[in-house]
Amino acid sequence: MIRRRLFVKGIVQGVGFRPFVYSLAAKHAVTGFAGNNSSGVFIEIQGSPAAAQAFSDELRGSPPPLAVIESVSQEEIAIREETSFVIVESEAQPAASTPISPDIAVCADCLRELFDPADRRYRYPFINCTNCGPRFTIIQDIPYDRPFTTMRAFPMCAACEAEYRDPSNRRFHAQPNACPDCGPHVSLGNVARDAAIVDANDALRAGKIVALKGIGGFHLACDAMNESAVGTLRGRKGRGAKPFALMARDLAHIEPYAHISADEARLLTSKERPIVLLRSRENAALSPAVAPGNKYLGFLLPYTPVHHLVIGKTPLVMTSGNLADEPIVKDNADALTRLAPLADAFLLHNRDIHVVCDDSVTRVFQARELPIRRSRGYSPMPVRLAGDGPCVLGVGGELKSTFCLTRGDHAYMSQHIGDMENLETLAAFEHAFWHFRALFRAGPQAVVCDLHPNYLSTRWATAYAAQNTLPLIQVQHHYAHLASVMAEHNRTARTIGVIFDGTGYGLDRTIWGGEILAGDLDSFDRLMHLKYVPLPGGDAGVKKPNRMAMAHLWAAGLAWPDVLAASEVEARVLRRQLESGTNCVQTSSMGRLFDAFAALIGVERTVTYEAQAAIEMEALAEGVQADRGYRFSFDEDSFDPAPLFRAALEDLGAGVPPAEMAAAFHVAVAELIVECCEIARERTDITTVALSGGVFQNTTLLGLAAGKLEHAKFEVLTHRKVPPNDGGLALGQAAIGRRRLCASQE
Ligand code: ZN
Ligand code: ZN
Ligand code: FE
Repeated sequence: MIRRRLFVKGIVQGVGFRPFVYSLAAKHAVTGFAGNNSSGVFIEIQGSPAAAQAFSDELRGSPPPLAVIESVSQEEIAIREETSFVIVESEAQPAASTPISPDIAVCADCLRELFDPADRRYRYPFINCTNCGPRFTIIQDIPYDRPFTTMRAFPMCAACEAEYRDPSNRRFHAQPNACPDCGPHVSLGNVARDAAIVDANDALRAGKIVALKGIGGFHLACDAMNESAVGTLRGRKGRGAKPFALMARDLAHIEPYAHISADEARLLTSKERPIVLLRSRENAALSPAVAPGNKYLGFLLPYTPVHHLVIGKTPLVMTSGNLADEPIVKDNADALTRLAPLADAFLLHNRDIHVVCDDSVTRVFQARELPIRRSRGYSPMPVRLAGDGPCVLGVGGELKSTFCLTRGDHAYMSQHIGDMENLETLAAFEHAFWHFRALFRAGPQAVVCDLHPNYLSTRWATAYAAQNTLPLIQVQHHYAHLASVMAEHNRTARTIGVIFDGTGYGLDRTIWGGEILAGDLDSFDRLMHLKYVPLPGGDAGVKKPNRMAMAHLWAAGLAWPDVLAASEVEARVLRRQLESGTNCVQTSSMGRLFDAFAALIGVERTVTYEAQAAIEMEALAEGVQADRGYRFSFDEDSFDPAPLFRAALEDLGAGVPPAEMAAAFHVAVAELIVECCEIARERTDITTVALSGGVFQNTTLLGLAAGKLEHAKFEVLTHRKVPPNDGGLALGQAAIGRRRLCASQE
C-alpha cells in the first residue's frame, strides 16, 4: 500500500475535474480525497502501487474535455487509516490564482437533451453542464462558485440542486446549472419562453433584423439569403463593404456556400467555435450584400442553445450588436436604446452578461490555426511564457485592441475590445482590465504601452502608471510585434523580425510598417525598411488607396495612369501636396504599399474598411501562377519599390491581367523578404526569422515567404496563438516589460 499527494494546475476548476477524479478513484479502487483551492486541485490517493500509478497515468492522459492540465506534481506520503474516496470543501487562498475556462459551445449531450421532447430541459435555451456553457462572461469574482457569478440571481430548484450535488452527474458543480423551473428565460416584447423563440424565428424568416442576446453580448441577425434584409442591416449599421459573419446549422449547411478543408472543419466544430474564414463557392446563393467583392466568407456554427433553436436551413447573418466603432452591447436596457435604430425585434434574456466577449475570428495556415481575432472561446486562456516573472500590464495599441496581464508564467490576453478611438471603447477596456485584475489577483508592477503619444491606450497607461506610481515602459510598435511572436514560441535569443504592418509610430516619429528588425526582449535594431514615401493626408489617406498609388509612383518618378485619380482636381491637389510636403507624413508602411499596388491594378481605388484593397488583391492572386518577377532595389538600409512600379506600369500598358500582376506582386514581396533576411543573416549571424504585423494575415504571402525562407535555410516563426495584427501586440509589450523589470531588479 502507498499514499500519494498530487497537485494539478491549469484549467481544472469549473470543468468537471473533481467528479472525474472521483470516478477515476472508484475505477482504480483507491481511497483518499480531492478538492479545489485557489491555485488548482489537490488530491491524495491510497492503494496498491499499481493502482496509484494507473490513477496518475489516466489523470494526465484523459482529463475531461474542457480541462487543460499544465502540471501535476506528485509526492509519496505516509499512509493513513481510510475507507473511501471523498470530495472535500474548497479552500480559499486570497492571494493565489488559477486560470479560468473560456465560454464553451453547448456540448453534444446537452444538445441531445435540448431536442428530446421527454427531457425536462426540452427546448430550454440555457441548458448546460460541466462540459459546456458560459464561464468567463458570467464570473464576477473567484473562486468560481455560483454566488460569484451572474447565476446568483437564480436559486436552484430541488431537481437541479440534486444534480449539482451528485458527483456522478454530468452537472456536478456546474455553476450555471438551471432548468425551466428555476433558471433564466428568454423574452421578445411581451412574449416569454418558447413562444419568444417562435416569434424570433418568424421575424427572421420574414426578413426582419433581430437583436439576439447571446453569451458575450448581442448579435444582430437576419436571413442571409434575403437581399433586402442584408442590405437594410448594412445601411442601418453604416457598414460600407466589410463582410458580415454567417452562422449555419452545421457543416453540411455551409457546403453549398463555401469550401471546407478538414482543418477548417475541425476549427468550425471545435468547442471554441470561432468564425472561420472560408473560400466561398462561385455562385453561392447568398445575398451579394453579405460580403461584397470578397472571396472569403466568415462562417461559424451555433454555440449557444438559443442559436440551435433559431437557426434554420439557410445561414443567418450574425454580426456584433453595436453601432459602428462602439463596443458590443451586453445589457438589455442598453440594447433597447442603443440598438433601437438597428433592430426590428429583440430576443432578450434575464441572465446578466458580466463582461462582453465578441466572437473570435480565425483561419487556417499550413494545417494550423492563424488567429485573426482572439476572443470568445479563447480568452482568458493564458499563453504560457518561458518561466516565472513579475506581473506587468501591456495595454496594446489602438486598432483591434486587447491587453495582456501577466502573472507567473501566464500571459492573460484579454478578449477583443475594439478600435480604441472613442470613450465607449476606453470604458470597455477599463471594465475588462478591472475584471482580469480581480479574477487573476494580478496587480501590475509595471505598465507597458505604445510609443504613439496620441493613442488613448498610451494616455490611459500614462495616467494609470502615475496614479499607482508604477514604471511606464513605452515600446516601439513593430518591436512589440516581434516580441509577440517570440513570446508565443518561448524564444529569448536574438531573432530577425520581418514586421510588415499597416501603421505604427516610429522612433523617428514617421509612420513605420515595412521593417526588418533584429532583436530580443532587451533591445532591437532596425536593419532595413521600406523606403519612405509621403502618405498624403496622414491616416485619412488610408481610405484612399488610389492616392497611395499616386504617392508611390510620384516617389519613383513615374507618371500617373489616367484612371488613378478620381478627378482632374484630385490629381492637381495631390501633386501640389506631394511636391510641397504639406499635410504629408513620411511612411515605410508595407500595408500602404499593398493598398497602392491594389489600386494601381484596379482592384479597389477607395475603400470602406482597413486593408480592404489588400484583402481583395490577395483573393485575386490566389491560385494564379506568377512567372514574371517584379523586383525591389536595395540601399544600405532600405528597399525601394520603384523598379517594381516601373515594371507594373509596363505590364498594365501591355494588358497583362490584374490577377497575374497581383500574383507577381505577392511573389515579389516574398522574394524581398528572403533577400532582406539574407542581408540580415550576413550582418548578424541570426538564422531565425519571425513574421508578424497585420500584412501577415495574408496567407498567400505568408505561405510564399515561409516556404522560400525555409528553402534558404532559415527557421521561421509565425503566429499560432495570438493574431499577427495589433490584436497580438499586447503580448509582445508585456514580454518586453517583464524582461525590462527583471533586468532593472538584477
Ligand atoms: Zn453540456
Ligand atoms: Zn432547476
Ligand atoms: Fe501593428
